[in-house]
This record gives sequence, structure tokens and C-alpha cells, in this order.
Amino acid sequence: MLEFSDEEYASLCSTVADDGCSNPTAFTDEVGNTWCADCQHRGEFINWGKARSFPAMEIHPYAMAQGAYYWQVTATQGDEDRVWSFLSLIEMLDATTEVA
Ligand SMILES: [Zn+2]
Repeated sequence: MLEFSDEEYASLCSTVADDGCSNPTAFTDEVGNTWCADCQHRGEFINWGKARSFPAMEIHPYAMAQGAYYWQVTATQGDEDRVWSFLSLIEMLDATTEVA
């Protein structure tokens, strides 16, 4: 198993996907992570968080603290179920009008 520096790691496509991700150049998110087409949703996840100052998120059974670090870790290391759960929450939040 290769070891990567934090900087190299950040530029890698999802390392949790077992299949592919060898050519992470299809999509660059707003914090500079690059993703393959199959992992583009992870970059879009980061972009959504960045636009909202990386809020805390919770959707059973997952929870994420507020802050860019947690969003980055989830995007780059979270398994697919975790990432898609947050994305489904994001979709719900986007579908509702801003009622604070
Ligand atoms: Zn990928």
C-alpha cells in the first residue's frame, strides 16, 4: 500500500472506492480535490458544504461536526453509504425553503 502526504492525498480521488478511481481528473471541487466521474458526487458534496460554511450534519446513523476538516474527511474517506446519506440530506434541505 502506497503512502501519501496530506497534500497528495487531498488531490487523490476517493480512496475508499474499491473499483477504479485511477484517473481522478473529471471534476475539481472548490477546495481543490480532484475526482473521477464516478466520484464526482463527493466533490459536489464538498461544494455544497463550502457554500454553507461546512455546517454540522446529522442523518441517522451518521453525524458530522461543523468544519471544513470533517467535510473533507467524509468526502475523501467516508464510505459510499455515508456520503450518499449526507447527499440525500442535502437534497432534502435544498428541497425545502429556508425555514430557520
Ligand atoms: Zn473516483
